[in-house]
Amino acid sequence: MNSSSLRRIFSTLSTPAGEVCSRLRNAGHEAYVVGGAVRDLVRRVKPDDYDLATSATPEQVKRLFRRVVPTGIEHGTVTVLTSDESLEVTTFRVESAYTDGRHPDSVQFVTTIEEDLARRDFTINGMALDPVQERFLDPFGGEADLQTGTIRAIGNPDERFAEDALRLLRAVRFATQLQFHIEPDTWEALTRASHTLQRVSYERTRDELNKILASERPTVGFRLMSRGGLLQVILPELAAGVGIEQRGDHRFDVFEHSILTCESAPKDNMTVRLAALLHDIAKPATLSVDADGNRTFYRHDQESADQAQSLLRRLRYPNTVIDQVTHLIRQHMFAYTPDWTDAAVRRFLARVGLQNVENLFALRQADSYAQRGSRVDFRTLLTFRDRITEILANDHALNRKDLAVNGHDLATIDIPPGPAMGTVIDHLFETVLDDPKQNTRPQLLKIARTFYDSRLKGANHHPTDTS
Ligand code: ATP
Ligand code: MG
Repeated sequence: MNSSSLRRIFSTLSTPAGEVCSRLRNAGHEAYVVGGAVRDLVRRVKPDDYDLATSATPEQVKRLFRRVVPTGIEHGTVTVLTSDESLEVTTFRVESAYTDGRHPDSVQFVTTIEEDLARRDFTINGMALDPVQERFLDPFGGEADLQTGTIRAIGNPDERFAEDALRLLRAVRFATQLQFHIEPDTWEALTRASHTLQRVSYERTRDELNKILASERPTVGFRLMSRGGLLQVILPELAAGVGIEQRGDHRFDVFEHSILTCESAPKDNMTVRLAALLHDIAKPATLSVDADGNRTFYRHDQESADQAQSLLRRLRYPNTVIDQVTHLIRQHMFAYTPDWTDAAVRRFLARVGLQNVENLFALRQADSYAQRGSRVDFRTLLTFRDRITEILANDHALNRKDLAVNGHDLATIDIPPGPAMGTVIDHLFETVLDDPKQNTRPQLLKIARTFYDSRLKGANHHPTDTS
């Protein structure tokens, strides 16, 4: 690297990172910026966060700084908090294999930065910057690989993937995020080792998958995973869509349609991206071909929601994410036409939930675009949105909680608590969805009385065993 590039890099490096390195240096230790931050600085991108590597032990680091959190002390990592940044500081180390797919079997501290860099996965992740002496260390040619857009394992790729199979997915993740190619020897080793990805814990897999999902071009990552044999291991349900052709307006097979829907969804909305990726996941399982050769995917929305649920559970996604994603998938086939009555629009809103409408529309737009990968006329969807805005302006009850009466009110007219009361409330809600003018206290109490007396009174809603 020439001196003007170096000067540029050291002038853009964050002040806290430089200060923490100086303090370590002044105390007689070595300290370097490593990992993603170096990659970013060399590419002229502003790093999100800084990782530092040092010859100091975690204990020594703790003593040098006022605010230190022991985030991963058994692996040699502490987090140093400065006024405006937190920095991970890790003692030079090497690690043994990840036999359990979760943690290295052991880590061993080493004395030189060169040994520390050599245990890292790819050349572009194996560079270091010393901000105090303004030195750039690049023992494996990371800078050249950054320039040519190459993901290349450090050392022997078969060995590197055998030590930690997560690196298989990391290779794809970096290729996707940076839109780089994977160097042929590394790629060959990756395909040979693809089945070993099953050893990696679901949590680590999920975290890499999320980075692919949040990137500009997730399709790049999913196609690489499919070609490299990784998809079959971590998302066999999605891999099953390869070659499943669709009918009508669709131009792509189920797999290509799914990943293109995902890519077309807003990149900063993980819920919609996941729903987009999985919205047709059960199409391979629900495909049937009739006598005339027509292809149908009966109930694929419901089946896909169920399959997505078990898939997301397996990958240890949080329950809130699973609930939102499966709800969107379950609702994704709505078919609005301008002849829908106001009552039909209100029923739709009650079913979908106001807070999910924007996400569902985003999913629909991505889904429609991904049928052919070309511009789509969204006028009907836009008129639907206007209808919804109109209806909301009239402040209708779209939730049982918006009814003018509650369980307490119903109890005052002697409707007993329990399942019967639930049935009465359901009935009132249906009534109000049909005709919002009914949503007044006297009116609902009257309706409740009649409904209860004619339909429920005397019926046994609590089957109790008296024998
Ligand atoms: P980003 O923070 O954008 O995800 P990063 O390169 O900083 O990218 P991290 O997962 O934060 O990635 O890891 C920091 C550094 O640690 C990497 O650049 C790499 O040098 C090293 N590293 C991380 N995980 C592994 C691994 N599984 N095998 C080898 N080295 C790794
Ligand atoms: Mg990082």
